[in-house]
Amino acid sequence: MKFSASWITPVNQYDKYAPLIFFKDINLSAKPEKATLTVTAIGTYEARINGSRVSDYVFAPGWTQYTERIQYQSYDVTDMLKKKSTLEIEVAAGWARGRIARSDECQPKMPVATIAQLDVKYKDGSEEQFITDTSWCVRKSCIVFSEIYDGETCDANFTDKSYDAVKDLKWSKKVLIPQEGEEIKEHEVIYPTLFTAPNGEKILDYGQNLIGYVELSLDAHKGEQVVLDCAEVLDKDGNFYRENYRSAKSTLTYICKEGHNVYKPKFSFFGFRYLRLVKHPKGKIDPMSYKAICVYSDIKKTGYLNSSNKNLNQLFSNIFWGQKCNYLDIPTDCPQRDERLGWTGDAQVFARTASYNFDVEKFFTKWLHDLSAACYPDGRVSKIVPYVWKGAGDAKIAWSMNSGSAWGDAVTICPWEMYLTYGNVNFLKDGYEAMCNWINYITNTTKDKYLWTGMNHYGDWLGMDAPEGSYKGSSRQDLIASAYYAYSTQILAKASKILGKQEEAEKYGKLYKGIVKKFREYFDDDYKTQTEHAIALRFGLAKDMKKTAASLDKMIKDNGNKLTTGFVGTPYLLHALSENGYMDTAYTLLLQEEYPSWLFSVTMGATTMWEHWDGKKADGSFWSKDMNSFNHYAYGAVADWVYGVAAGINRVEDKPGFEQVVIAPHPDKRLEWLDVSIETKSGLVASKWVYKDDHIRYEITTPSPATIILGTNTHNVEAGKYIFTEKL
Ligand code: BGC
Repeated sequence: MKFSASWITPVNQYDKYAPLIFFKDINLSAKPEKATLTVTAIGTYEARINGSRVSDYVFAPGWTQYTERIQYQSYDVTDMLKKKSTLEIEVAAGWARGRIARSDECQPKMPVATIAQLDVKYKDGSEEQFITDTSWCVRKSCIVFSEIYDGETCDANFTDKSYDAVKDLKWSKKVLIPQEGEEIKEHEVIYPTLFTAPNGEKILDYGQNLIGYVELSLDAHKGEQVVLDCAEVLDKDGNFYRENYRSAKSTLTYICKEGHNVYKPKFSFFGFRYLRLVKHPKGKIDPMSYKAICVYSDIKKTGYLNSSNKNLNQLFSNIFWGQKCNYLDIPTDCPQRDERLGWTGDAQVFARTASYNFDVEKFFTKWLHDLSAACYPDGRVSKIVPYVWKGAGDAKIAWSMNSGSAWGDAVTICPWEMYLTYGNVNFLKDGYEAMCNWINYITNTTKDKYLWTGMNHYGDWLGMDAPEGSYKGSSRQDLIASAYYAYSTQILAKASKILGKQEEAEKYGKLYKGIVKKFREYFDDDYKTQTEHAIALRFGLAKDMKKTAASLDKMIKDNGNKLTTGFVGTPYLLHALSENGYMDTAYTLLLQEEYPSWLFSVTMGATTMWEHWDGKKADGSFWSKDMNSFNHYAYGAVADWVYGVAAGINRVEDKPGFEQVVIAPHPDKRLEWLDVSIETKSGLVASKWVYKDDHIRYEITTPSPATIILGTNTHNVEAGKYIFTEKL
């Protein structure tokens, strides 16, 4: 779309964290037959006509690589307009200018600005256009402070109606793109219970760690305040605990007017289960006055996981909530502390699970375009997308841009996973150049040909076998980096073939073979940690798969059937075992309840996935206050093992999008039954098994031709519903 409107900004400087309202009164010549408002902003905005919001899309225009791409939104506002109407666009710091943007450090300074045009068509065929230009004005809002990390302050008694002029910002219009991702919407509403903590503080408990905000609805006297702050967990003694938010204040302050007050934040969101009532109007506290509203991208649930095991079901629930809480427009690491950033490694390990749990085709289309836009010309992939550190000095660039293995490999793995789940070749087409650049970058900069050596990476981030004082597990960085180099090159070779690029397919196919050969020579199956074993097995790099699998199995058993893996090893561990004859050990790990394990956090009352296996220890103490999120989805990637191995639902590479399916369930007696389904692009795929008396009963639904593998029996079937029984 061509914008005739201009970017406008105030002529004078205002406090960066105080939202501003750009406004204009307009006169229409008649009742419109059709009216469309197209709008965006630098920051986040709320557009209103005659005082009402034009849409239920919150935190518009979403978060993109603003330096290259800013989405605009078009709303049908035909029914909202009167002959005399007021247009208002309230703009806050949001992701573009808040602390989260680290903009003072090195991004190009993002000014507060908006651009909008209202296109009106009348019955007689005539048209009229109203655009942002210097005839607009700007004034302050009753929201006197708003920032994503720190929260929001609203003064209901705010009366200042003075206004100021605006000027043409002359900001690029080339960055403007139509809405590409999912809209961000309000979802579940949750009411809390109230309790008094041992230290006397009044706390609201929502029973679920969530992302969003609270809506106040209460009677008060003018000037009384509501002040709330957030926590995910209680400490050992049952008191409010928020040190793991680090510098993010996440405080909501509302100054009441006389009478009934209704308010919810507009430009700040929180990750929380508990709210502390630091201040509240005099009188009895009614928890119903503080309902929570969950906010995240409008992704549709497609995956269903259910079993006979209560704790496992809670884990599944935590995985779904972990995704909702971290899919607010981009895949983030966590929704609460002073990060909430698009960490590529986290997104990568969870991508397959994400694509089964919810329909994230649109969500990833947008984010992967940002990932490509955030890449460096030399091929490096930003470890955070959108990047928030990129400046003139190399040192600053380095922080954000020197991506390492597993994080940078999001550039190949995410498009590949999306392609397989949704059968949409655009994921490969759009990402192709960045994929090639990434592999070429590694090839050009490594110390040893056919390996990726000599660089500092995140390694097996948060591995249990990390040396004292380090976040990096003790798996060798060169080994992890070389293994991922092989895997990403293999994906690139396949993508080249699918895109009909024969020459590249051969080139990268050869490179892949070279890496595998060198990997085998260099590391010689001498794997020292669970993670090293798991990736050598999962990526098919071990010389002797049988021996390596046996060695991994032994390591786990010697460790009391417990894992030691971090971000890199964990998603692959169960697959590495089950693919190589150790299904039983894989189930043992899945069902393990003692620390460290997936179910340990469940036994500790978790309602979302933890960043650390020991986020909260059995005695109620915390491993640390520094890197301790209780809402990090990465370890939730274990769900892809439940979908793909326990229930056995698998995509077929040359018939992606579930146009063909392989269903190979693997029951285990420790579960009485498992019931899994995915609403795929081709239709419903479902796999259920139940142990009953002397047999197992399988109920399988496929929307496309499928190969059903039950033990040693293979059945090739057409779309339909099938029941099999197997004697025990
Ligand atoms: C984030 C992670 C991220 C990591 C990179 C952390 O601070 O929360 O999830 O991947 O840094 O090592």
